[in-house]
Amino acid sequence: MSILTELVDGLRGGRIEVVDLTATLSGTTPVLELPPELGQTARFELAEISRYDERGPAWYWNNFRTGEHTGTHFDAPNHWVSGKDLADVASVPPRRLIGPAVVLDFSGEVAEDPDFLIEVDHIKAWESEHGALPADGWLLVRTGWDVRAGSQESALNTDESGPHTPGLSAECARWVAQETPVLGMGVETVGTDAGAAFGFEPPFPCHSYLMGSGKYGLTQLQNLAMLPPTGSVLVAGPLRIETGSGSPARVLALVER
Ligand code: MN
Repeated sequence: MSILTELVDGLRGGRIEVVDLTATLSGTTPVLELPPELGQTARFELAEISRYDERGPAWYWNNFRTGEHTGTHFDAPNHWVSGKDLADVASVPPRRLIGPAVVLDFSGEVAEDPDFLIEVDHIKAWESEHGALPADGWLLVRTGWDVRAGSQESALNTDESGPHTPGLSAECARWVAQETPVLGMGVETVGTDAGAAFGFEPPFPCHSYLMGSGKYGLTQLQNLAMLPPTGSVLVAGPLRIETGSGSPARVLALVER
């Protein structure tokens, strides 16, 4: 039997489950907030064109406006100055939009400390149990932050001292980007970097090192708890925006049951 026939049989027979890792996009989808002197990303907005009415009697459709980095989305290498001469979102090879995924679960640590930072040793400890991070695959970080996707306030978790959300230390970000064979990292928070990462050296190290290494980011993922630590296959579908720095994406995982 051909591999694709086996795949289709697995999907139809239920041996392969398709898990949607995508948050729904709406006007309440959380977005990153930068200091007021800087440019801001747009919230998602739908504007109705017609809905079976005098504006279009038999059809319903909308226009929409959104930031490239709103909701579950894909970061292309040119999103960051360190990757400015690397791929835009339209140039990412389609082969790299499908790959194996591993899930590292830090939801317990993050429940105790929302500023929890993953270090190289945490990932090496995971590797000693589950094997090496996958070549041309995704490192997905589960933090339990997915339950906050419906609320700007809860997702950003900001107080007088700034946003408090989990992420990677600067050295861990450098190590993942430069010394592991993954093609990118996916998270449940609004961005790949920790809330406090503006104060890291370099600032926003996940963006700086991942994009600078030609790697990708995925954010605001849902349902990582439904994936096994290893063995799933991730399919990421950003829009092919010419020269774009990223795009809202439908992200799916295939999981063998
Ligand atoms: Mn982004």
